Amino acid sequence: MASLSLKHIYKVYPNGTKAVNDFNMEIEDKEFIVFVGPSGCGKSTTLRMIAGLEDISAGELMIGDLVVNDVEPKDRDIAMVFQNYALYPHMTVYENIAFGLRLRKLPKDEIHRRVTEAAEILGITEYLDKKPKEMSGGQRQRVSLGRAIVREPKVMLLDEPLSNLDAKLRTQMRSEISKLHARLNTTFIYVTHDQVEAMTMGTRIVVMKNGYVQQIDTPKNLYNYPGNKFVAGFIGTPQMNFFEGTLLKKGEEVEIKFAYSDAVITVPYSMLYKTRPSYLDGKTTVYIGLRAEDISLDPEKVKNSNAVVKVRISHKEELGSETLVYGDINMSGDGYSESSTRVIIKDESDRDFKPGEVVDVALDMEHVHMYDKETEVSILPRIPEYNYLPCSVKGGVLSVLTANIKLPPAISCPDGDGEMLIPTDAITLGNGNDAKVVSCEEINGKYLAELLVGERRLYAVVPQAIQPGNVSFKFDIKKISILRDGKEIISPMNEMVDLDGMFLKEKYVGEQEVNGKKKKVKAVRFDYEIGGAKFTADDETSQKLITVMGLKNAFTTALVFECSVYDFIVGDSGIPATVEDIVDYGSEKFVRCSTPCGTVMIYADKDYSGKIYISPDFTKTGIIEKDRDIRII
Ligand code: ADP
Repeated sequence: MASLSLKHIYKVYPNGTKAVNDFNMEIEDKEFIVFVGPSGCGKSTTLRMIAGLEDISAGELMIGDLVVNDVEPKDRDIAMVFQNYALYPHMTVYENIAFGLRLRKLPKDEIHRRVTEAAEILGITEYLDKKPKEMSGGQRQRVSLGRAIVREPKVMLLDEPLSNLDAKLRTQMRSEISKLHARLNTTFIYVTHDQVEAMTMGTRIVVMKNGYVQQIDTPKNLYNYPGNKFVAGFIGTPQMNFFEGTLLKKGEEVEIKFAYSDAVITVPYSMLYKTRPSYLDGKTTVYIGLRAEDISLDPEKVKNSNAVVKVRISHKEELGSETLVYGDINMSGDGYSESSTRVIIKDESDRDFKPGEVVDVALDMEHVHMYDKETEVSILPRIPEYNYLPCSVKGGVLSVLTANIKLPPAISCPDGDGEMLIPTDAITLGNGNDAKVVSCEEINGKYLAELLVGERRLYAVVPQAIQPGNVSFKFDIKKISILRDGKEIISPMNEMVDLDGMFLKEKYVGEQEVNGKKKKVKAVRFDYEIGGAKFTADDETSQKLITVMGLKNAFTTALVFECSVYDFIVGDSGIPATVEDIVDYGSEKFVRCSTPCGTVMIYADKDYSGKIYISPDFTKTGIIEKDRDIRII
């Protein structure tokens, strides 16, 4: 039983392949985590790093309370099950299961107890005297599970354990492994390329692609709220239908036009409250995603639906429990080839369709998904990143929602109308403008409040659940953007400062007392050099830098030191800086200085002028290896 913590984990193979990029996850005790994604996405590499079979290039891996980056696999309290069983052919099942325990020199009766108990759990007691070759694939995999169970590990790692089995056995073993997890009360991490396996077994699933985590969520949330088009297409069979289309806001309605067809429907604007208004211009192409079960051929549903389009049926697939009807919303489309007009419908009506027949279908727009055409990221996110509001500026006064706000000196905005972006996490409740709380929803541990200010919706990520009713709110003015004609004329203040620097090994001659006499000794110490200034690097960080970059490259590799504007110390030494001006956001002031590393902004606890020296607070500073883009600290 153990929790795991993966922080900024990277794997770069010696040939330069970056197999895993910035993997972050907290795994709770007893979870059943599945890593899923197409071949080569980095799931086995991640698992093997957890097992200790592969070095971690950068990042921190904890099992329980212990950092295990440098702990030998055998000392990590994990057990691993592989696809190819890896059984010893000359040993009996009993000996195979007992082998690891014998190596660890456990008492004979303890070994016997564990082996018979595991065999019992796995239903292989009667095979204990048999050799692996006398057993089927499923039975062999049970033996290899048995070998893992008897170690009583804190974490069970399973790498595609069912891939060698036929479909029927796979289904059966799937539920056996789930049962085993429930019985053992151990944390499981399971790797598979099969999304059905992932969906049926995982308490949470990590979807990966090209070495990057795409989404971490429960099976249900992955299915209902895929955050990008890749996840939407990867999870669920048949694959989600993706159409291209445009959205045009007309008052309180939005007209959705499907490209390459005559299909047009209208939905209430309320369904698209979370979408950035610029997507609703009738010109920007987006992907519209609908699952096969969210499209209906049922005449009753079609009659009652406001979202009906015509489909030319091409063929159907009888799958026993369900029927898939294929067609096209483009009347000259063939319905066979994947395209942005082909449609797959789960049909419950059991009707017969003639190839070429044109029918009306109802789209369940409550379950629609939409993605940006370029980034493929959802434009209907569960937690929107920004609020997009019309605003106007006149004589340094910003009018937005019901408020007129005198802009602080740091924001000098020419008069005119525009679009203002307020990050949903830049809104705080208390002393400010009046609003009504419409709802508050918990989403993956965060609380999203929907506020009504006059007629306008506003979304805010709040620290705890709030009840419907009246509230007061304000927003952090330094985090807003203002756009005019699509161009950003006011940008949010960047709260992070990047400083270029190096890691240095310095030889020096120090003094040491030997037998009461002072002696000169040669010693080395590690420093950072940033903007011509040197700072002492602590031992732990130095060790990490050397481990990640290698002794050969550690002192010649370009680094970026990443520090918040709030985490600088002004003193008598450090990076020389000349104060250029004070950036005044009203309630907070910052100093803009020129330094050998370029312009740097720091928080001003008092007035500064002239020449000063600034030092990052290294306890809060991130360190990134520049060229390979690896976060080391
Ligand atoms: P998955 O388990 O998702 O199929 P892997 O973790 O095995 O993917 O591999 C991720 C990437 O790393 C792939 O591009 C693969 O080719 C590469 N890779 C895996 N092992 C090595 C290795 N020993 N040396 C170099 N590249 C490797």
